Amino acid sequence: MPRGITIQEYAPKLNRTAADLVRMLMMAGEMVTATQSLSDDMIELIADELGAEILLVDPGQEQEQELLALFDQEEPDESELVERPPVVTVMGHVDHGKTKLLDAIRAANVVASEAGGITQHIGAYQAVRNGHAITFIDTPGHEAFTAMRARGAEATDIAVLVVAADDGVMPQTLEALSHAQAAEVPIVVAINKVDREDANPDRVRQQMVEQGLIPEEWGGDTIMVEVSALKGEGIDALMDALLLVAEVEELQAAPDRPAIGLVLEAHLDVGRGPVATALVQQGTMRVGDPVVAGGAYGKVRAMLDDQGNRVDVAGPATPVQVLGFNDVPLAGDQIRVAPDERVARTVAEARARRARQVELMGTAAAPVGAGSKLEDIFAHIQRGEITTLNLILKADVQGSLEAATDALRKRERDDVKLAFVQRGVGGITENDVNLAITSNATIIGFNVRPDRIARELAERERVEVRLYEIIYEMLEDVEAAMVGMLAPEFEEIVTGEAEVREVFSVPKVGRIAGCYVRSGVVKRGSKVRFLRDGVVIWKGEIASLKRFKEDAREVSAGYECGIGLEAFQDLKPGDIIETYEDREIART
Ligand code: GDP
Repeated sequence: MPRGITIQEYAPKLNRTAADLVRMLMMAGEMVTATQSLSDDMIELIADELGAEILLVDPGQEQEQELLALFDQEEPDESELVERPPVVTVMGHVDHGKTKLLDAIRAANVVASEAGGITQHIGAYQAVRNGHAITFIDTPGHEAFTAMRARGAEATDIAVLVVAADDGVMPQTLEALSHAQAAEVPIVVAINKVDREDANPDRVRQQMVEQGLIPEEWGGDTIMVEVSALKGEGIDALMDALLLVAEVEELQAAPDRPAIGLVLEAHLDVGRGPVATALVQQGTMRVGDPVVAGGAYGKVRAMLDDQGNRVDVAGPATPVQVLGFNDVPLAGDQIRVAPDERVARTVAEARARRARQVELMGTAAAPVGAGSKLEDIFAHIQRGEITTLNLILKADVQGSLEAATDALRKRERDDVKLAFVQRGVGGITENDVNLAITSNATIIGFNVRPDRIARELAERERVEVRLYEIIYEMLEDVEAAMVGMLAPEFEEIVTGEAEVREVFSVPKVGRIAGCYVRSGVVKRGSKVRFLRDGVVIWKGEIASLKRFKEDAREVSAGYECGIGLEAFQDLKPGDIIETYEDREIART
């Protein structure tokens, strides 16, 4: 049964009338009307009552099986398989050096191309050590990793868990660890920042032992390598460790098959149209191949490797930028070479149609009945009432959406039920806020932000919008709310908003965003979020701010300026730089 089904749609599937189901729910103390969307709980309650076995799926999953039957689905034969490079994801706590490590590996092991070897951050790159290639996913963190898993695609063969030797194991280290373990992906620990005076690598080893990872040098089977991403030390040893693990894993793929891969990143390029980075997993992709990825299709017009060189073919474990899609696919979509263009189109259009239906369902689903908000859930519990917490969950990628949903479901209690009024990938929109108003829901965002219209509407209508970057922080809040101890909240005050209009490359400095300040004031050194289509893709600080050629301390709305973000270089026209401050607000 698709989540969010209405009584009207549900009843005939169970050979009952809508009135039967309304009555059943009424007996269970739930007042619903026939056109109302049901919570997961209610759907299951009815099935239980009727002795029916059901499987809850996100709307439209059934149809996908039929579409996939249009492709060659035969498993490759043993004789077709050849060795392939491992695909590695780097995970760990924020600031422990994931990005720096990826940069260091790249700097040390990627042979610069003749074209000048300009680093292209396309979502993944290949490094070579002693003639063996290793593919690194260039988006550190376990969110992207889980995004792929959530789509049933296991892209990662090995996880590098980065732990800073001065800081030790931190919450996201554990989160990353459990994601890797859940995926049964072998783990190599990179003990980073060993150049630091206060580095204590043995403490990290000890902490890892507490998590059940015993270092090889202590008689266990987890490889732990001491590195300094900053100084480029230990990188070779880390690469060797990865190759060793890859050898044990016996990673193979069949190159002579129509390619199947994964979309790692995709965006709309002003000049080139939709651009998707694909990680080829099976088979070989060629220029001219008809392809489909999610609801997008096309013919591969050109492919570019991680150094911006044009390539004609891409084999297993190779990341390539693919040009030629009619639309922008989503990160995490499977990309497949189709038997012909007609199939590619049929499949993509069927999916796009379905996606639109799901969207319509989500917004038409309101009202979902009187639920409670996170803020006042405790009052209901105290009065001994069973209450439903209505949630709208938005996340940057499918993976965090799934992970957050699962984690929340596990927190459900007898007296507090959860209903997901809407779940989706992407920024928080006016639509979401409207839905929250009508369904009395709390909006929870993961690495996503409300756009200005949504934010203003939420403020005006007092819709509770809670934004998180870490799942366990959200769970803490939900649990705290249930015991009436929601901690004081830090309210973020958005102080300014600038739109990227042009991007310049300045020698020795890097890329500078030519911006127009749309609202507020943008100040040098201020904290920023970098948004693309409402999704936070980077956080940090403004490193440089200029008006014309002069350094500026601040630039107000209506003026143009140049903004440099130092560490972040993936700037594109249309992106939004949002500056903000934290302010604590007392809870009542
Ligand atoms: P991420 O959030 O895990 O991607 O962390 P970053 O790669 O952005 O690194 C966070 C900070 O730690 C940056 O200021 C880096 O320069 C610094 N850093 C990273 N690796 C090392 C290292 O090996 N030694 C030292 N001393 N600093 C490092």
